[in-house]
Amino acid sequence: MRTRRAALTAIAASASLALTLSACGQSSEGGSEEGSGSTKGATIGISMPTKSSERWIADGNNVVKELKAKGYKTKLIYGEDDPDQQVSQVENMITQGVKALIIAAIDNKSMNNVLQQAKDANIPVISYDRLILGTENVDYYASFDNEKVGELQGNYILEKLGLKDGSKKGPFNIELFAGSNDDNNTRYFFGGAMKVLQPYIDKKQLVVKSGQTKLNQVTTLRWDGGQAQKRMDDILTGTYKSARVDAVLSPYDGISIGILSALKSDDYGSKSKPLPVVTGQDAEVASVKSIIAGQQTQTVFKDIRALAKVASNMVDAVLNDKKPEVNDTKTYDNGVKVVPAYLLQPVSVDKSNYEKELVESGFYTAGDLK
Ligand code: BGC
Repeated sequence: MRTRRAALTAIAASASLALTLSACGQSSEGGSEEGSGSTKGATIGISMPTKSSERWIADGNNVVKELKAKGYKTKLIYGEDDPDQQVSQVENMITQGVKALIIAAIDNKSMNNVLQQAKDANIPVISYDRLILGTENVDYYASFDNEKVGELQGNYILEKLGLKDGSKKGPFNIELFAGSNDDNNTRYFFGGAMKVLQPYIDKKQLVVKSGQTKLNQVTTLRWDGGQAQKRMDDILTGTYKSARVDAVLSPYDGISIGILSALKSDDYGSKSKPLPVVTGQDAEVASVKSIIAGQQTQTVFKDIRALAKVASNMVDAVLNDKKPEVNDTKTYDNGVKVVPAYLLQPVSVDKSNYEKELVESGFYTAGDLK
């Protein structure tokens, strides 16, 4: 589905990303300049969740690039969606003497013990994109406005169906999908979307025919597209024998592609049976191509180049005894403390603005999307 080749194409898309291609998915060491003050030549450990999705490959490479530009060495490791493996990788990095950690956790509650070890070794920890829960040993959080991501998806559905401006009254049939239940972002994405969709469900202008509306009924472990495809298959066979689905809330492009496969197997996309509105997230190449081809309808673009900058600046500040820049000190309570955060803004992208947001911004070249 999301092939390594597609992933590499995505990375090669921007010249800046291409520069770090050699670091793809592997440990990387070495920095060109010396770090400042006492941090000279320090190695920063970067722990990413998986290479099965383009965005995380690019995230890893972007963070390496930003840190190297500041004179740090880096160690980049992927946990391949196995929380135990990720924990032992982080443990190894601590033993090897990294001076700071940037972690995008697979399971947000798995890090407690290992982060105590980090604390004992005086290693600051930046939670990257996904908030680590249940420990005081996370210093800062670099992410996007995650609730807004869900709001953008929900509002897009309302607009596309004509419910927002009142031009259509419905009722329309909608099905709901959410991300992995061990990822803290999942409840923010779903919560944001439901905040805007629920009033229309209450008014019966939107109907969830499967009856699956609770978060624990709609999650997708490890954001797996195959699992989402199976669930959509089951819903279509079980609930939509004579009815038609008009919209599907999908939290992530890999899940959207799975949902679309199920829909297409059920003849959606033919003249008599148009595809429903299908949302997404991450602007992965396969999904942007699908949007251009008129299949997936929308995605949410998060400029992860900026996220890498934010996280690297945080590391650099902390290691130099400065306060990192944050813009949110209220939202992200991890159960033990509110983690000071810098949140970037997500952008809704569809056929009408992908060129401006993704190509003109240099995130992809036009050729990547052919
Ligand atoms: C990220 C999303 C991504 C998802 C699956 C989430 O934590 O915020 O951008 O789509 O993980 O990788």
